[in-house]
Amino acid sequence: MATSFIRDSPYLSKDRITNLAHPELTVCSLCNGLLWLPVACNECEASFCTSCIKTWRIEAEDPRLCPKCSTEYSQRPCPGAITHILSTFDVICHYKPHGCSAIVPYKSLETHEETCNYRQKTCPGCEEKIIRMHFNAHYYTCPSVLLTCPECNSIYQRQNADQHTDYKCLRVQLNQLQDQMMRIEDIQNGKLNLLESQIRHLIETIEQIVNRQKISIN
Ligand SMILES: [Zn+2]
Ligand SMILES: [Zn+2]
Ligand SMILES: [Zn+2]
Ligand SMILES: [Zn+2]
Ligand SMILES: [Zn+2]
Repeated sequence: MATSFIRDSPYLSKDRITNLAHPELTVCSLCNGLLWLPVACNECEASFCTSCIKTWRIEAEDPRLCPKCSTEYSQRPCPGAITHILSTFDVICHYKPHGCSAIVPYKSLETHEETCNYRQKTCPGCEEKIIRMHFNAHYYTCPSVLLTCPECNSIYQRQNADQHTDYKCLRVQLNQLQDQMMRIEDIQNGKLNLLESQIRHLIETIEQIVNRQKISIN
């Protein structure tokens, strides 16, 4: 058994369980944390976290072998007795350090943590991590968040909004209109050139016909 194969941080560390029981069955020998999405060895029934055994089967010296019984590893579902013990555990929320006081059943841990109000979200302006329950209040006042002017589509940080004066905004709009006009002129010039060359072609054709008739009369 390779005891050295311990990951830096298990998905679910033992100290987050308030009523831990049968650690010899419910702790993963690869990460030393609580079994998470467990699967078992067909031969010896030792259970591992799905992600731990996946890592083992990529990184171990002999990845074909079970970490526990060293026979060729083949996988079966985790024994029901173990999943039953796991389901009786109460778990402290991962976001406790940010203020969450929830203790939730093992089975609903994932759902809770996905929607936990103390989960952090990164502000796209200042890139600070803000807990979810305070996020909106922060986002709508953060000086670094980018705003778009509804009149001219200029983009600036909220803290520089004062510098986007009515005068500046109108100048930008004027430039945009001038650009637009130039584009329209270009298109119209293109159309005129096309018409001109078509007319020239028509004139040439008419002249050729007239010349041919002159020749045949003579
Ligand atoms: Zn594990
Ligand atoms: Zn085994
Ligand atoms: Zn929570
Ligand atoms: Zn921010
Ligand atoms: Zn503007």
